[in-house]
Amino acid sequence: MQQNKKKEILYLKGVGPKRAEAFEKLGLKYASELLSVYPRDYLIRTTIREIVKHPDKNVIISGKIIDKQQPRTPKHPTRLAVFDGTASVDCLIWGNTFYRQKQFKVGDEYVFWGKVVFNSFEGTTQFDLRDHKKYEAGDEELLKYPLIPVYILSTELKKTWIKPLSLTKIVFNAIKSGLNEIDEILSSEVRSKNQLLDHKQAILRIHYPRSAEEIEIARQTLAFEELFYLQLVMALKKRSAASGENGISFAKVGENFEKLFKNLLGFELTAAQKRVIKEIRADMKSPRPMNRLLQGDVGSGKTIVAILCMLIAIENGYQCAFMCPTEILAEQHHKTLTGYFDKLGVKCVILTGGQKKKLRDSVLLDIRTGAAKIAVGTHALIQDTVDFNKLGFVIIDEQHKFGVMQRAKLRAKGVNPDVLVMTATPIPRTLSLTVYGDLDVSVIDELPKNRKSIKTGLRYEQDRLKVYDFLREEIKKGRQAYIVYPIIDESEKLDLKSAEKHFEILRKEIFPDLKLGLVHGRQFWFEIDQTIEAFRDKQIDILVATTVIEVGIDIPNAAIMVIEEAQRFGLSQLHQLRGRVGRGADQSYCILMAESPGEASRQRLSVMVESTDGFKIAETDMQIRGPGEFFGTRQSGELRFNAADLGKDMPLIEKARNSAFALIESDPELRGNENQTIRKHFLINYKESMSLISIA
Ligand code: ADP
Ligand code: MG
Repeated sequence: MQQNKKKEILYLKGVGPKRAEAFEKLGLKYASELLSVYPRDYLIRTTIREIVKHPDKNVIISGKIIDKQQPRTPKHPTRLAVFDGTASVDCLIWGNTFYRQKQFKVGDEYVFWGKVVFNSFEGTTQFDLRDHKKYEAGDEELLKYPLIPVYILSTELKKTWIKPLSLTKIVFNAIKSGLNEIDEILSSEVRSKNQLLDHKQAILRIHYPRSAEEIEIARQTLAFEELFYLQLVMALKKRSAASGENGISFAKVGENFEKLFKNLLGFELTAAQKRVIKEIRADMKSPRPMNRLLQGDVGSGKTIVAILCMLIAIENGYQCAFMCPTEILAEQHHKTLTGYFDKLGVKCVILTGGQKKKLRDSVLLDIRTGAAKIAVGTHALIQDTVDFNKLGFVIIDEQHKFGVMQRAKLRAKGVNPDVLVMTATPIPRTLSLTVYGDLDVSVIDELPKNRKSIKTGLRYEQDRLKVYDFLREEIKKGRQAYIVYPIIDESEKLDLKSAEKHFEILRKEIFPDLKLGLVHGRQFWFEIDQTIEAFRDKQIDILVATTVIEVGIDIPNAAIMVIEEAQRFGLSQLHQLRGRVGRGADQSYCILMAESPGEASRQRLSVMVESTDGFKIAETDMQIRGPGEFFGTRQSGELRFNAADLGKDMPLIEKARNSAFALIESDPELRGNENQTIRKHFLINYKESMSLISIA
């Protein structure tokens, strides 16, 4: 038995050393591993008589060649008349003449994959050939299924001249020899509770479904299994983080919190902000180290939540660290923070890589002695020279821009400090449960009431002059504007040139009477900061920028944003950018300029026109681009699923999560008899990933 299970692909019929090597390059060595390569599509198995029932579909037929007609010219197809005992059909073969003429012989039996087309000129139903294989022993077994799978032919495999139907046959043989060796991987309890097929059935039915519905039923089981084990990893991580009661208990809230909350804010917190503060306060009070993700759309008021929570930590005698991904952001946050903390007599310092040594030394001293209660900074905060006096609370802003190691380093500067990670990039819930499933999540899902909604429009090249007129009018009324160019990766030199060139044209030819400024990521951060401050002081009417302004900049009078080549941005990024306007009392506008009205990009961009809900936009963005793209390549390694689809499997994720967390709750070490199957599968396949999945 054991030997059988380890049968190598090399020994499957139709595979030789070359092909075995190609499979191995794809990470597939054993026949049993082919069972987890799921079909990319299914062909309808039909008789020739019934072929008319499947117009425009990909079908599979088998039969004998009873006639063959050479093409009249190279542009015409070869015609094979194929008969299967029920009827005959004309099978058309396009392409390479020599090959066409030689290959097929009248009297031979074949399996054909093709598309059913109606030739209106001839008034007949025909068959456009896609792939074929000689009929061989054992094919009748394969062809008794109503749907026949085809698989992705990767480049490696294509090099070995393997064709789709041959691959189907190879996998079929692998299934035949391996199916009985497939072990169950879930407990019967989990399966029955979630109405799943057993693993073997699911594998068989994903390859050879008896109906189209059965594909989805099988897929759901296989997807559940993948998601379940990922959630099991999360549940175990969360449990291990929460074990030891060795964190800090921030017992009191303190006067400063009350003072700021009641008198100094100048506005009422939204219900969502209050709820989130409550959640964080409860975590801080508990001696368990906090690990919480705070999500909130741009402008939802995360900073003030962070400030209030920092005051709690400070009141209890601890210091806070606030880490930002860029120097500009650190600078902006430091300004906002000192605006509040100065009034309360709380010292807040900033530490960045670009500081002069003298200043830096004094900042480091303040952090070391504890004179500074808060240190805002970039990754400069995690350098060895930084010594905190008593770090108890860590805030990480825009956490997806930091690696796991960087976060761990900052945490290690204190002794089990509470950690709050914040993100303004709304992460679809499917993703946050998958990638940050080990964190507790708080969501600010409400914007302050005084916000005016932003009017968003989609415009094309032919509207450009009108757009400029509109800008000019708004600026006359006293507003300011951003014009954003798509330098997504700041190393793209060509793009940078185009932003600089456009800036010159705008300045000299379009708006010679207005004041323009330019910021981009190749400038020093203090240059950017100077320009942004000049913009804030209204010395600049139009700020031409790249995506360096994406996060953190808060200038209420800037009410118009034009985004050039909008089709090149992801939706979530557009949403972030748009969040720079709509911050004041005036009606704000966002104009998306797209090159030519291509249907796909028009549809995508119209999501921006219709919605200002960051979560909805993120959800759509992920569905369009896929979770890997959406999230950036760094984290996407964890998101490679065979059967699960984060775009549509939210209900499954929740079910899998509930089951996995309930299991760990009831049997944390998987000791129970009924859980041995799960324990074994976990140890073999998932133990390693414990260290790969992010933990803040
Ligand atoms: P985020 O960091 O979530 O993008 P901020 O914390 O920068 O949002 O808040 C955006 C602006 O809204 C700031 O000027 C802030 O002072 C203000 N603000 C925050 N909360 C409220 C509220 N409840 N009511 C009115 N204004 C608020
Ligand atoms: Mg705590």
